[in-house]
Amino acid sequence: MLALALFLIVAAFVLHPILQPAAPEGTNNPDTNFLQARRASVLSALTDLDFDHATGKIGHRDYESERNQLVADGVAVLKQLDAADLTAPAIVNDLDARIEEAVAHIRKPESTPAVAHQFCSQCGAVTQLNDHFCAQCGFALDPRSESA
Ligand SMILES: [Zn+2]
Repeated sequence: MLALALFLIVAAFVLHPILQPAAPEGTNNPDTNFLQARRASVLSALTDLDFDHATGKIGHRDYESERNQLVADGVAVLKQLDAADLTAPAIVNDLDARIEEAVAHIRKPESTPAVAHQFCSQCGAVTQLNDHFCAQCGFALDPRSESA
């Protein structure tokens, strides 16, 4: 039973990076690097502890308490890794969305032809290019002189 539990924990450690979507190599998050180093050291400490226990170098009582501590450390590291992995892409996605939004706002005025609207020189109302009179104040418009 103990061996099975240990196997599952070790398997979880080993499989964790495979099950998680791999982080892009370019993002060298120092926090994630530190956590991954911590996870590796906890894993190797667990392996060493198992070996010491199997070869009788360490007593069962010491083995249990040390192992519990290592497992607790490992779980904490994995939780932090999960949090780091989940937040990093979310920030990037949010940033992408903001950039898209900003670009859309910039592009919008350009997409409408600049000559489609003019302003009445008398009252400032928006008039159509082909309008001869301002719909707002009736001022006589001369579109051609404005569009040059
Ligand atoms: Zn007008």
